[in-house]
Amino acid sequence: MLKGKTAVVTGAAKGIGKGIALAFAEQGCNIVLNYRSSVAEETIQEIEAKGVKCLPVQGDVSDFAFAGDLMKQVKKELGSIDILVNNAGITRDMLLMRMKEEEFDSVIDTNLKGTFNMIRHASSIMLKQRSGVIINMASVVGVMGNAGQANYAASKAGIIGLTKSVAKELAQRGITCNAIAPGFVETDMTAVLTDEQKEKMMEVIPLRRYGQVEDIARAAVFFAENTYITGQVLNVDGGMVM
Ligand code: NAP
Repeated sequence: MLKGKTAVVTGAAKGIGKGIALAFAEQGCNIVLNYRSSVAEETIQEIEAKGVKCLPVQGDVSDFAFAGDLMKQVKKELGSIDILVNNAGITRDMLLMRMKEEEFDSVIDTNLKGTFNMIRHASSIMLKQRSGVIINMASVVGVMGNAGQANYAASKAGIIGLTKSVAKELAQRGITCNAIAPGFVETDMTAVLTDEQKEKMMEVIPLRRYGQVEDIARAAVFFAENTYITGQVLNVDGGMVM
């Protein structure tokens, strides 16, 4: 069903983004692998080993012009943009009273504005195609809030509002837009937490295990395959939010 489609995944050099890129490659999608600092050659080879094309594109999603250039390049080289996964994200955790302006701005710029930038440029191509699937990476923190993450929570709550608005605007052209809200997933982003913080986290996960990138990747494939679903936020969190 997804064979031959083009999937653009941002921040896909590692972690959840890499897992999503591999899952779409497994389904026969050609992959546009956006990365910021570096991408391992073996990741590209892993994708190509699944018999699909992999187009690595380096750049910063918070740069509006870069997002436009990326979409033009994808259209030219692969012909269409069928699936866009806005996964790139950062944290700059700090208590509100000590949070620097730069810490707030950088998180909003990457997570929220980066998502807007990519949707803004991909949607003009999707509108002409009269089809497209947009999947945005939110977080349970965007739903619940979290002490020490006012910047991150605001960016993820913003992504949820953006998702629902885009879903309403683009539905009439057959384009869906949904969000995934992961709980605690074992990646470099969460590896910085102390053992004590991780144990505390486990106490609020009813399924009593940390999420894996494959858990999130399966949800992304689900949204790409189920094009009668739009404007939804799917918690993939072991039951943290219910
Ligand atoms: P990760 O391992 O830190 O990976 C994040 C990726 O995003 C990295 O490859 C990073 O590239 C890239 N990136 C960051 N800023 C970028 C930019 N401006 N332009 C392009 N790429 C950029 O994090 P992760 O855990 O896989 O997280 C992926 C997404 O899931 C994020 O949106 C995160 O907020 C969300 N999420 C994660 C969890 C969790 O528990 N892990 C929970 C909820 C939501 P560089 O390394 O080159 O900077």
